[in-house]
Amino acid sequence: MKTPLCDLNTDELAELVSRFGQPKYRAKQILRHVTAYDSFEDYTDLPKSFIAELSEKYSAQPLTEETRVTASDGAVRYLFKTESGDFIESVYLPHDYGNSVCVSCQVGCGMGCVFCASGKHGLVRNLSAGEILAQALYIARDKKDVGGINKIVMMGSGEPLANYDNTLKFIKLVNAPDGLNIGMRSISVSTCGLPENIIRLANDGISCTLSLSLHAATDIKRKQIMRVANTYSVRELISALGTYFDKTGRRVILEYILIGGFNDTKQDVTELRQLLKGLCCHVNLIPLNPTDNYNMKPPTKKQAYAFCEQLKAVGVSASVRRSMGSDVAGACGQLKNRTVEAKARNKRT
Ligand code: SAH
Repeated sequence: MKTPLCDLNTDELAELVSRFGQPKYRAKQILRHVTAYDSFEDYTDLPKSFIAELSEKYSAQPLTEETRVTASDGAVRYLFKTESGDFIESVYLPHDYGNSVCVSCQVGCGMGCVFCASGKHGLVRNLSAGEILAQALYIARDKKDVGGINKIVMMGSGEPLANYDNTLKFIKLVNAPDGLNIGMRSISVSTCGLPENIIRLANDGISCTLSLSLHAATDIKRKQIMRVANTYSVRELISALGTYFDKTGRRVILEYILIGGFNDTKQDVTELRQLLKGLCCHVNLIPLNPTDNYNMKPPTKKQAYAFCEQLKAVGVSASVRRSMGSDVAGACGQLKNRTVEAKARNKRT
């Protein structure tokens, strides 16, 4: 497989042009094309012979669009094909205050949360930093006429902290002033909860918004829906979040899927309050997005807001997340699952 040019940081690009015997300024030219997600045909300011050599080992556009679905609210779900023939999903979400992109960091996911469509078939492989970045670059180019993108969330398929090195490199690349230049405050990493790597992120100088997929306030309950809860306790996680806050000064986010009758009772309010006491945080309540492989249902809108009010009443900062794009094949992983399953059916017939 060729190396995507967008996998390279400024130092690596400098090293590359010198290896090819090219003048230093070529690194900046390449970076400009990489950031614009240009094809090699667009690299018209570089010598043809150099492009010919370069394209033997490197790729300019590691992702191609397989299909897309546009929702009535303007959200777009893209299905991309990688050079190795894998499929990954990304979502574009337009907001009044700017546009965001939700990227995937793995093909499939090995974390095995029962409610999640991305993990249905397990982990296939990690995406490289460049393959993660290419999703944002492609969509920024596609949406250039509406101002590009200014926010990144790592909430697509995969577990960012289980693909640590590529996640770290991706954040640095997307944050680079001569790249997409997305500020740390506009980058969110969502994790199912790997405490060592939460602390490692802060130690590596990253101060992005950190979201923990908590979904239940006790270990007993969390174990019923998230396999990772067998390895790490909620106490360990909350302690890691406290460390992250101390090192970065960033309020942390707790994501909490509302599963009707399972984790939305008065008892859950009490337990959440106990658990989160003393942590500078905000709870994002997400009504469960029904998937093909999980039978539970979200509470009604009224019940979701009532749960939110109960949390606020006991001093927990909380809000109900408006779910966008749910009319475009629902939660993450479902467009891929449906497309891949349809392809398999077509092959058989
Ligand atoms: N692996 C990371 C990021 C990917 S999932 C994580 O676990 O945080 C992004 C978010 O979507 C997580 O909070 C995840 O729990 C949530 N999610 C997954 N399936 C969902 C569903 N069916 N309905 C609502 N949220 C879901």
